[in-house]
Amino acid sequence: MGELDKFYKTISNLQCMIPKDHPRYESLMIRERLIEGYKMGVTALQGLIAHGRGEMFDYVLGEKSHDFALKAEKVAVALMLLSKRPVISVNGNTAVLVPKEISELSRLLNAPLEVNVFHFSKERVDRIRKYLEKFGAEILANCDAELKGLSHARRIVDRRGIYVADTVLVPLEDGDRCEILKKHGKKVIAIDLNPLSRTAMKADITIVDNIVRAIPNMIKFAKELRDASREELEEIVNDYNNKETLRLALETIRDNLTKIAEGKLREII
Ligand code: ATP
Ligand code: MG
Repeated sequence: MGELDKFYKTISNLQCMIPKDHPRYESLMIRERLIEGYKMGVTALQGLIAHGRGEMFDYVLGEKSHDFALKAEKVAVALMLLSKRPVISVNGNTAVLVPKEISELSRLLNAPLEVNVFHFSKERVDRIRKYLEKFGAEILANCDAELKGLSHARRIVDRRGIYVADTVLVPLEDGDRCEILKKHGKKVIAIDLNPLSRTAMKADITIVDNIVRAIPNMIKFAKELRDASREELEEIVNDYNNKETLRLALETIRDNLTKIAEGKLREII
């Protein structure tokens, strides 16, 4: 049995162990996927911790795609369709959480996937490439160019991909590289549940949504906008203000917490 088959067998066994009516079923299954991804050497141990931070923000956001996220997802798709060389950067968490979906989005937007990880080894990059290849997208993983100005491993890129891209979609990105990508003149689209992270603040478009919802939403928008004219796409992009997205995300968290606090206090007192 191949590694991927083993992965899916384990996931389906877990589906039997975690009852579907468990109130946190989806969230628990996502954790199990990441743990299995770690055992396969695709997800980094540090990625499990980063996921915990994301979960916390998802919790206080109400675990749904808000209007500000849907808008950012649509604008992101429009920008990718307008771009000459759009690229989707993929790390270990993304590869395990949405392999099929990110590959479909890649095909719809004509944007290759580039394997790019913070905890770098050529073996790990190759493992992620091999794992993703099964889903049928074009994968770049040559690690043959460097983004100047960055000391950690995310500087290592593919000469045909991020190095020459005009727009990069970076799910779960690191703040430093987001800044460097911008310095290199690229437009950056981030998916990050934390509206306060440096990445979220520095990106041109910040999608404050869980990647497991964001990518399927983007697939829907890509199908909708595939035949739109450049003028229509430009109108969607020009109308967008990222500061407004971050403000709405923070206000949503604030209002949710106020509601929860008032409700809980009434229960206790
Ligand atoms: P920065 O360097 O930008 O300040 P950070 O150090 O807070 O970011 P990293 O560990 O670099 O965070 O990246 C992980 C980020 O990804 C976190 O902000 C976390 O909220 C977010 N994240 C984790 N899991 C998900 C997910 N499933 N969907 C969307 N965002 C997620
Ligand atoms: Mg960071």
